[in-house]
Amino acid sequence: MIKKYVYLFSEGKGSMKELLGGKGANLAEMTILGMPVPQGFTISTEACTHYYENGKKIDPTIEKEIFDTLLKIEDITGKKFGDTKNPLLISVRSGSRASMPGMMDTILNLGLNDEVVEGVAELTGNKRFAYDSYRRFIQMFSDVVMGIPKHSFEKIIDEIKLKKGVSLDTDLDDNDLKEMVTLFKAHYKKQKGADFPSDPKQQLIESVKAVFRSWENPRAVYYRRMNDIPSCWGTAVNVQSMVFGNMGNDSGTGVAFTRNPATGEKKLYGEYLINAQGEDVVAGIRTPNPIDTLETVMPDLYNQFVDIASKLEKHYKDMQDMEFTIEKGKLYMLQTRNGKRTAAAALKIACDLVEEGMISKENAIKMVDPKQLDSLLHPQFEAVALKAAKEIGSALPASPGAACGQVVFTADDAVKFHNEGKKVILVRLETSPEDIAGMHVAQGILTVRGGMTSHAAVVARGMGTCCIAGCGEISIHEEEKYFKLGGLNIKEGDFISLDGSTGKIYGEQIKTVEASISGYFKILMSWADEFRTLKICTNADTPKDAKQAIEYGAEGIGLCRTEHMFFDSDRIKAMREMIVSKTEAQRRAALDKLLPMQRGDFEELYEAMGGLPVTIRYLDPPLHEFLPHSDEDIKVLAKEIGIDFNELKGIVVSLHEFNPMMGHRGCRLAVSYPEIAEMQTRAVIEAAINVVKKHPDWNIVPEIMIPLIGEVKEFQYVKETVVSVADDLIKNSGISLRYKVGTMVEIPRACLTADEIAKEADFFSFGTNDLTQMAFGFSRDDAGNFLEHYYSKKIYEQDPFAKLDQVGVGKLIEMSVKLGKQVKPDLKIGICGEHGGDPSSIEFCHKQGLDYVSCSPFRVPIARLAAAQAALK
Ligand code: ADP
Ligand code: MG
Ligand code: MG
Repeated sequence: MIKKYVYLFSEGKGSMKELLGGKGANLAEMTILGMPVPQGFTISTEACTHYYENGKKIDPTIEKEIFDTLLKIEDITGKKFGDTKNPLLISVRSGSRASMPGMMDTILNLGLNDEVVEGVAELTGNKRFAYDSYRRFIQMFSDVVMGIPKHSFEKIIDEIKLKKGVSLDTDLDDNDLKEMVTLFKAHYKKQKGADFPSDPKQQLIESVKAVFRSWENPRAVYYRRMNDIPSCWGTAVNVQSMVFGNMGNDSGTGVAFTRNPATGEKKLYGEYLINAQGEDVVAGIRTPNPIDTLETVMPDLYNQFVDIASKLEKHYKDMQDMEFTIEKGKLYMLQTRNGKRTAAAALKIACDLVEEGMISKENAIKMVDPKQLDSLLHPQFEAVALKAAKEIGSALPASPGAACGQVVFTADDAVKFHNEGKKVILVRLETSPEDIAGMHVAQGILTVRGGMTSHAAVVARGMGTCCIAGCGEISIHEEEKYFKLGGLNIKEGDFISLDGSTGKIYGEQIKTVEASISGYFKILMSWADEFRTLKICTNADTPKDAKQAIEYGAEGIGLCRTEHMFFDSDRIKAMREMIVSKTEAQRRAALDKLLPMQRGDFEELYEAMGGLPVTIRYLDPPLHEFLPHSDEDIKVLAKEIGIDFNELKGIVVSLHEFNPMMGHRGCRLAVSYPEIAEMQTRAVIEAAINVVKKHPDWNIVPEIMIPLIGEVKEFQYVKETVVSVADDLIKNSGISLRYKVGTMVEIPRACLTADEIAKEADFFSFGTNDLTQMAFGFSRDDAGNFLEHYYSKKIYEQDPFAKLDQVGVGKLIEMSVKLGKQVKPDLKIGICGEHGGDPSSIEFCHKQGLDYVSCSPFRVPIARLAAAQAALK
């Protein structure tokens, strides 16, 4: 049997997303549900994969299947493709498994040529409409398929308008549009050196290829990297008979959500335009009307639409994002999908749907994207500061959150400022997919044009970035890099603040405050806690971080990095003194200064954690971060510790390492200088004793973590120091205190010999930052410089420091868990690298049977939800 690559909408169904893409599967599902869908077919994602495997060619048998299926559409519609009497016009739409808004391009009105357009004019009795459709088609086809920029056509339109002395498109008549077509085709010929393709079949095949090609365009590749979408999925192509929203005042087009995508409010939400084609609404060229007003304009159609919307929501059991078109008083559904929404809306909708009995708690948990919560965990404007601030304008609150930053006018400048460590607000006339990198780094986005469903709004909500859209009051000068609003002249680099929840714009910096977990957020988190089995700990070095993490639901500290406690200016001196000591006596003297500071810090940390587990990682200072560099600093330190400048300089030079990341750090320091581990043990145990004395009911069990172990004897050596000091202190205190000594697993050799290490260690914690660095053999501080080349050449799709490399580093983890548990079945195992806060890595940790993940305080709620989702999978 030959493989099938093309499916009529009536042959597919909603569950076939992998094969038909999201759009195709949902068009099929709506067809099954008997909803008014213009009929068509879907060329499968497998055809896309085949195209790439076939040297970027469409196989003749697939081409034949496409045209055979087109014949069936002709039967269904009673129209004929390329016919001059009763022509079938089609749209060509991309659609991958996961929705990638604005990433791929759609071609409308395909099938027109000089003869067919006359047929359309005759049939509809509307020559203006026929030529308007034709010129749009030439423009889209040239742009999407042939790469001739859209704006080069806009220029021609402007010239015609100027010649005629009119300002609006609607002022142009049929003859003007016909002339426009002639000029467009001439422009095409000049650019391409060939005539505009008049054969509809050729138009179709070229368009299909263009959709396949667009899967690899840089915007799509970037979006996939940001959203963990593998490039092997490919995209499907939907070929659909056209319906026309631009046939007069009884026609129109719109988009709507079954609930408010910004707040989650249960109320139909959307926009439409009368006498317009689909693109006009999304592109933000004309400002559309709110959907409610359709009720007075076309009451019957409005009710029909409301009915369909509610059916779709019940059917998919989720908020729907729909596109529709009205052609001469008849409603057509062009798309439905689970709508993108803000984090706040996602939480409210998930809770409401449980309340309404539509879904279970488990499904509510699965419905919310953990990464999205990030936007709720960051600062909001401080109420008092906000009240005092002067509003300079307002527009549509397109994506909530508070943003304050310096104004930039291009995506490139946004990236540039960002790389200089500045916070930016991207101000644009309107955004387009090319702006995505700039939007990604911006605190907030402000556009002059466009509605709630414009590109800027949709993308910003997806990213959880604050956005205000459609601020028509702004007079913007992108080239000269300034804008005017509310009587102010705001230049590049000036500060403004945006409130994405109210749509208000402020010409100044406004103080922000931390977020908190309450309301729907709290409810969903409590459900997540019911289902997850992984414990969630936090990486915290200060009581402030620890408190924040507890507020966000952390169940302990998985990693306290002790060297971070010494960066303060008054402490770094003692630390430096310790590092440059030449004799043990000198070093002990310096350590004596460090001891009370460290003990005090630990006491505060234990207090802040209220008896929850705390894992303290022993000193792991890359020496270059602590040494004085300039002569100036060396002079100060020399004076401080009373040695000669030149002598100290000599020491500093001798301590220089060629590769500090692989240098004298971690347990290696404690091997050379056991007195360091002695001091730290003293600090940990004395602090614990002191706190237990104050809170006898707290079950404090200090967990001491030795970093950078690669050999069990290393571990034994340091552990001996720890045990002898600790046991002595405990004995003398008269308090019975238990403690654990474990290791950070971050050197590949430790993974390979995990069974031996497990005999000695009470726990393992994967330090996946170093483990990734050591496994790949590239420095995490330098990898940024060349990883881009790896992405563009498809060697790596992801940054292995952000997303755990499950194939390689994951295998090391798997091996360590297996070897470790062979020796000690109840060995406690966790992860404390950056990956501990990444949802897909958390799922991996769950599968490996880890006990806990530890992540930064702001990631704790994300990890709670991700862990619950992993448990429910
Ligand atoms: P996107 O994924 O970017 O939303 P779509 O494929 O949905 O792209 O198409 C873009 C616009 O074209 C939509 O607004 C849709 O309404 C319109 N459109 C697509 N196909 C048709 C059609 N067969 N008839 C009328 N309008 C269409
Ligand atoms: Mg769409
Ligand atoms: Mg490390």
